[in-house]
Amino acid sequence: MKSQVEEVRSSFEAEAAEVNSSASLQELKVRFLGKKGTLTALLKSLGSLSPEERPLAGEALNALRDELEQKIEQKKLKLIQAEDAAAEAGDRVDVTMPSRGRPAGAFHPVAQTMHEIVNIMQGLGYSVVQGPEVEEDYYNFECLNMPSWHPARDMQDTFYFPDEGGERKTLLRTHTSPTQIRAMLQYGAPLRIVCPGKVYRRDNDPTHSPMFNQLEGLLIEKEVSFSVLKGSLRELMNGFFGRELKNRFRASYFPFTEPSMELDIECVECGGENSGCRICKGTGWLEVCGMGMVHPSVVRAGGINPDEYNGFAFGMGLDRMAMLKYGINDLRYLFNGNVSYFLSGRDA
Ligand SMILES: [Zn+2]
Repeated sequence: MKSQVEEVRSSFEAEAAEVNSSASLQELKVRFLGKKGTLTALLKSLGSLSPEERPLAGEALNALRDELEQKIEQKKLKLIQAEDAAAEAGDRVDVTMPSRGRPAGAFHPVAQTMHEIVNIMQGLGYSVVQGPEVEEDYYNFECLNMPSWHPARDMQDTFYFPDEGGERKTLLRTHTSPTQIRAMLQYGAPLRIVCPGKVYRRDNDPTHSPMFNQLEGLLIEKEVSFSVLKGSLRELMNGFFGRELKNRFRASYFPFTEPSMELDIECVECGGENSGCRICKGTGWLEVCGMGMVHPSVVRAGGINPDEYNGFAFGMGLDRMAMLKYGINDLRYLFNGNVSYFLSGRDA
């Protein structure tokens, strides 16, 4: 029995030397003094000893138990002090530290583009007006000089809703122009508005999406000249791209403006210096905006007398503007939700 007591003591000493935390100390205590502990097993074995041996062995084992308990208590105190000191020194909570927080979100490039353009136009005295995306044929086509037989409708084929009697009178708007009619009817003249929003057409290929974002502007005042339109658009483009850009106006056709023009700006990628430029295809110019003086019959449809007031309208694709400004080379990146493309720069 005496040798067993010595064995237990020395194995306890050896294991205690390895203990370096309150948790491992607790494990050590369980191993020796717990219900199935080494020392507990010896105490239980006392019953099997002869009556002569029992008192002496009992005394020795009880003394060992007291000794181990004492050593564990001492060790525990030391460990607690050490752990407290470490916490003081290293892991102290600094309440003045800024929080790690979450990575901040950001506006979608198209929303960002819309905000930038709206800001510039608000500086020129324009207000923002929004209209319904589910629109009536009358506002989307009819009153914009596109009666049902008009071939210009082919360029803007869209999605219709089933109406009673099989008529196709309700549709997803193909441009934000119907909002201009609604605004003229609601607010009258004079009027300066921009209408940003989603529009829909039956196109789906690498450069066209069935849903895209447009922004149109309308100014109705007395004796508005084309030069005001040119000046406003130059202001807008230079403001949006942040520098003076060459521009040119080309004659064009839209059913709702007369005369109609398109605005080209110098290529924002190469400035016309690179004949192999993939953005301008070597022409040095980018088509960015259609516009014109509002057709008198459209002014009339808006409830305004075209003999008294005239004005201009312009429209551009916000997706295209975002792609040009932020160097995004595929329209589909704007809609596929892959944020890594925008975080890493290009071609993720
Ligand atoms: Zn170019």
